[in-house]
Amino acid sequence: MSDSGTPQLDVRSLSKRFGDELVLDDVSFEIGADEIVALLGPSGCGKTTILRCIAGVETPDTGHIEIAGNCVFDEGINAAPETRGVGMVYQNYAIWPHKSVYENVVFPLKHADHDVPEAEYEKRVEDILELVEIGELKDAPATDLSGGQQQRTALARSLVHDPELLLLDEPLSNLDRELRTNMRYQLQKLQHELGISMLYVTHDQEEAFYLADRVLVMRNGEIVERGDPADLFQRPGSSFTREFVGQWNRFEGEIVDEDSDYVVRSDLGVFPLSSVDNVTGDPESPAIHCFLRPADIDIGRVSSTDKRRIELWGTVVAEGLLGEHYEVTVKLDDGGANVVVHSDQYHEFERGEEVAIRLGPGAMKVYDRSK
Ligand code: ATP
Repeated sequence: MSDSGTPQLDVRSLSKRFGDELVLDDVSFEIGADEIVALLGPSGCGKTTILRCIAGVETPDTGHIEIAGNCVFDEGINAAPETRGVGMVYQNYAIWPHKSVYENVVFPLKHADHDVPEAEYEKRVEDILELVEIGELKDAPATDLSGGQQQRTALARSLVHDPELLLLDEPLSNLDRELRTNMRYQLQKLQHELGISMLYVTHDQEEAFYLADRVLVMRNGEIVERGDPADLFQRPGSSFTREFVGQWNRFEGEIVDEDSDYVVRSDLGVFPLSSVDNVTGDPESPAIHCFLRPADIDIGRVSSTDKRRIELWGTVVAEGLLGEHYEVTVKLDDGGANVVVHSDQYHEFERGEEVAIRLGPGAMKVYDRSK
């Protein structure tokens, strides 16, 4: 939100149909000044359509869009894309191959509304190319650029006319892993240096959670949940977010009343119902889903002395390196459920070896099965 309290982007009750398909269903959200907001959802949920409606290259059926306090869409209003004060970066970069980097980047200065005098175009392009660290490529033909350089050219072009808002549509998905990681960091740095607001569309939760100040989770044309990344990751409120975000061990269970205390009974055993659980404890509807993050579980060969932690024994089914951590799958002795554990340490377990897994009482998140 800017100092005056006016959001940099205000989208209200946006709806859009393609034929019989309702692609956007009453979508509302805001982006504050200096804020990076990620729209996260699976392919086809309507993310790109939202961006295109904001940029003015798609027309919503109904709704209201304001950019930096100016209404660009409402009944009887549909501002032309070049007057909206937005920059857009596309997944496929949309770089003109027959032009040089300079000619690509100067394009919005020639065709969009802005305050830069013509005599300053060249300096302006040079400055923005320096900012995205490809100053030396100014006169290079676009055909000579690598994928990462094309991406930086597209970014420079989206920023050269000093837009109020930057829209990014899966901008990193065509880059290799190393470049993607580097660009993620570069985008945050750029946002900070320019103080620009960004709407970032992705189906990649890691990207959304790394980059964004706030994440909007989308499904079938609706925003089903919104919040800061840590909250959404640790305490997802909707069943869709739980399924979509992060890796979980999942168990079915029920709430039972034991000695007037509610407890959780599942394939993992019997636990106290913790304060973060999202259930009513209603004995009429005791069925629950239990979720447990692999990183919230410890594993070892010997019993722990810490009696506050819940300890269960089982045998190792598999162990392997997965990126930054080791993944161990353990089959529990009681009940036979498989539990996946992530550990920073390579334990070199034998398959079939007897091990203990341990978790804090709050690690298991519990939800009503109806939610
Ligand atoms: P992706 O990540 O695959 O790009 P998305 O979440 O961005 O997906 P959209 O591209 O917004 O989704 O598409 C949402 C739905 O609208 C899809 O079912 C798509 O087929 C449909 N759609 C998008 N544009 C059009 C169009 N111009 N005409 C008809 N249907 C369209």
